[in-house]
Amino acid sequence: MEFCDKCHSIMVPVKTKDGRGNYLVCRKCGRKMYKSVKNFKITEHTKSDKKVVVIDKDINSLPKTTKMCPKCENTEAFYWLVQTRSMDEPPTQFFKCTKCGYTWREYK
Ligand SMILES: [Zn+2]
Ligand SMILES: [Zn+2]
Repeated sequence: MEFCDKCHSIMVPVKTKDGRGNYLVCRKCGRKMYKSVKNFKITEHTKSDKKVVVIDKDINSLPKTTKMCPKCENTEAFYWLVQTRSMDEPPTQFFKCTKCGYTWREYK
């Protein structure tokens, strides 16, 4: 059972339109949260000391949010969550600028 991090209501799982995965939607405020998407592969590799995130997925199927790109100051970005560490830790939120493609992450 998952709860909305905004209003703490119960979130219900919904299948994506293409049927490849599912996400959770808050019944009260409509907040969406991605849980698991099949065939969603994210690989990280280290380039010098900078971590580069590679997304092996059709980026256009990801939800968008209002987020300022630290590189070009565009205000719209794709986002998704990845459980990078152990399950009892919060997932990492990734953003990808819709304009320049810059990808960054935020720890919740
Ligand atoms: Zn909510
Ligand atoms: Zn950008």
